[in-house]
Amino acid sequence: MRLILLGPPGAGKGTQAQRIVEKYGIPQLSTGDMLRAAVQAGTEVGKRADALMKAGKLVPDEVVNAIISERLDQPDCAKGFILDGFPRTLVQADATEAMLKDKGLELSSVIQIVVDDGILAHRVSGRYTCANCGAGYHDTDNKPSVEGVCDRCGSTHFKRRPDDNAETVVTRLQAYYKETSPLIGYYYAKGKLKSVDGMADIDHVTGEIEAILSKL
Ligand code: ADP
Ligand code: AMP
Repeated sequence: MRLILLGPPGAGKGTQAQRIVEKYGIPQLSTGDMLRAAVQAGTEVGKRADALMKAGKLVPDEVVNAIISERLDQPDCAKGFILDGFPRTLVQADATEAMLKDKGLELSSVIQIVVDDGILAHRVSGRYTCANCGAGYHDTDNKPSVEGVCDRCGSTHFKRRPDDNAETVVTRLQAYYKETSPLIGYYYAKGKLKSVDGMADIDHVTGEIEAILSKL
């Protein structure tokens, strides 16, 4: 199963990707996570991406295309993968197509998570993750069952992203509308696009996605 999760920042792509990973055993390829790891490690890519990410701007296509191309060659991608936050521009979408064609593979589906703009700042500014296992939470909408303890691994350490603030969300949304939303038409025209209601609660969204995946 080779999937793309498409949607604006805060739509729930990462949340749903983690659930697909658990159920189907295919890896989540998040360019955002990979770039944050590169920033943390102080690599050349990280140095190039750091200021752009803090400002909510997109990292150049050639940088993320190279990261994904390398990642797709890893053995764990052989049985499928979930692209989360990639592709984000038409150039990246064309590159994805070329990469898959090169490997003789086809995309299974692009799942668009549809959420009203008005709620995205709330979603993003309340977001935090477990510092140990990466499980995602929200201050009001998706709390761990025991306050301060990760449901998945029991850790009591959490972190927030420096770009998850109301100011950066505006820039990130602008980038989404200008650069990423054209991908909705791009994949619709290829007959690959499915949409789910990302305003529903997390379990309901998962149910809608599973219904799509069960028919692939
Ligand atoms: P994305 O990866 O698309 O940027 P996330 O999956 O990180 O978005 O979700 C953003 C925030 O919204 C997180 O704090 C997450 O817990 C929360 N969230 C995700 N899906 C829902 C939902 N359906 N309803 C309410 N909150 C949600
Ligand atoms: P995300 O974790 O998906 O919200 O991404 C965080 C930030 O990383 C974005 O605001 C961009 O600066 C950068 N980024 C992640 N994925 C991409 C991509 N596919 N293309 C360009 N920039 C990206």
